[in-house]
Amino acid sequence: MSDLTITNVLRPLRHRLVISTLWQLALVAVSYWVAASLSLNLALVNGQVTPIWPPTGIALVAILVFGRRAALGVFLAALAVNLPIGPSPAGAALIAVGNTLAPLVAAEMLKIVGFHLALDRLRDAAAIIGLGALGGMSISASVGAAVLTLSGKVPAHDFWTTWAVWWTGDAMGVLLVAPFLLSLLRAARAPSLSLRRALELTLLLIGVGLVTFVLFQNQLRLEYLVFPLIMVSAWRFQLQGAAPAALIASGVAVVSAVNGTGPFATESVVEKMITLQVFNVCVTLTSFVLASFVATRAREEETRRLYVSATAANQVKSSFLNMAAHELRTPITVLAGYLSMLADGSLGPAPDRWSKTVGILMAKTRELDRIAEDLLDAARLEASSAPATREVVDLRRIVEAAAERAGPRTELLKGTIETTLAEGPVLVSADASQLGRVLDNLINNGLSYTQRAPSLRVGCRVESGRAVVWVEDNGVGIPEASREKIFESFYRSTDPVVTKVPGVGLGLYISRQLAAQHGATLVVEQSTPGTGTVFALSLPLASPID
Ligand code: ADP
Repeated sequence: MSDLTITNVLRPLRHRLVISTLWQLALVAVSYWVAASLSLNLALVNGQVTPIWPPTGIALVAILVFGRRAALGVFLAALAVNLPIGPSPAGAALIAVGNTLAPLVAAEMLKIVGFHLALDRLRDAAAIIGLGALGGMSISASVGAAVLTLSGKVPAHDFWTTWAVWWTGDAMGVLLVAPFLLSLLRAARAPSLSLRRALELTLLLIGVGLVTFVLFQNQLRLEYLVFPLIMVSAWRFQLQGAAPAALIASGVAVVSAVNGTGPFATESVVEKMITLQVFNVCVTLTSFVLASFVATRAREEETRRLYVSATAANQVKSSFLNMAAHELRTPITVLAGYLSMLADGSLGPAPDRWSKTVGILMAKTRELDRIAEDLLDAARLEASSAPATREVVDLRRIVEAAAERAGPRTELLKGTIETTLAEGPVLVSADASQLGRVLDNLINNGLSYTQRAPSLRVGCRVESGRAVVWVEDNGVGIPEASREKIFESFYRSTDPVVTKVPGVGLGLYISRQLAAQHGATLVVEQSTPGTGTVFALSLPLASPID
């Protein structure tokens, strides 16, 4: 038995967790270090000023995907990269801290704004550009530029230039590499592309690479002609096309800048930096904004399609129920007629032992009749938008009449029903029988959905220029999450107190539709599970011309 102690069971699990964490840290550190070493080869000046610093993108995605612990891998790799080129070991360590803090803070900010790793909304594109790249990377640029100037490696008056170069490199790393890695992650989870689509994407990406290359080989300054291809990639494949297209176009541009070809042949370093970064920013903005815009549109289209098919299915269901209820009405009437003839002895004296059975049959037939009536009413209400008749009525009379109708059932249940009416007349323009129906539903629910002897209070008042009728019960209450659902058709809670009462979940749906036809609102005003509920029906007061 001692083998099964919690410690023994947990030990291998913990062991596996440690191993997988170590793997993740090693993966992050090695990728960061390799990317850093490669991009140092693309430096524009002195082996230091790199136009794109891809490790920032790797670091950000690693922290977003693996969690904060990935920051340790980032720090170790950043330290290894900076020790040989940094001003001093302490300076290199400080720069590494800045390089770690920047993606860490960027990831936290992205989490706060609810960033989607799928980058499938416009706000995700805006978040990664604003918070991930431009905002977050100002930390590494500030620490790095400060260390270089304080250590005397860079003259103080060059602080801002160093800062700007550092910042653009880091920000470009996030803008180009993070979405690319996220698109790979997404592609790994999504169903794989069909052969045709995969071929189309490959051709588009090769096209982007070739066209960018050609455009950067001459002085015509036509490099922006590659944009239509990038846009087609984003439009056809969203992030899966936009991210690699942007990365390829920027990569080709960086290599051209380093080799000094095309527009870069005659430019100074600052001009090169500006040409390159403006191109890069335009590439990323165009591709991601378009990709997320297309993704958003596709989602909206899908929602609309689902809505239309759900509405169509709902209409089929309603017309089927309407037809079924209609057909049921006649046999139910015949059944009710014969049962009452049996009960009142019109068919000859019935044996005593039948009376209980006939009673039950009559009650069940009434129940059936109510259900069929509810179904027909619901269908009728869906088809019309206004009450049949309207007259100016005193709401107090409607409330009194409903309480009176509920009297016998309340007595049977050994409960009480109390009315509290406004002092003066409360005039509304309404169909009195339909408002009465709404009140009957509310009162009957109050009498049914309780575990104690029901105690109901019904009343009406004038409040903020409207007439309000309320029904308060001491029942099971309605949980917060269901307070709107209960007004949907066929909704019933799974509470045993509710399910033991026969019903189909149409009463409140019908009541709300009837209320809406009167320009009224019907809501749960207040409810405490286990204590009771207050429903409120609020109507406009009748105007003098009514
Ligand atoms: P039905 O009474 O046939 O179930 P309703 O539309 O009148 O249909 O009510 C829908 C559901 O709302 C009920 O099944 C119950 O879960 C909940 N409900 C309605 N009124 C009350 C109430 N007064 N107290 C607690 N739950 C209620």
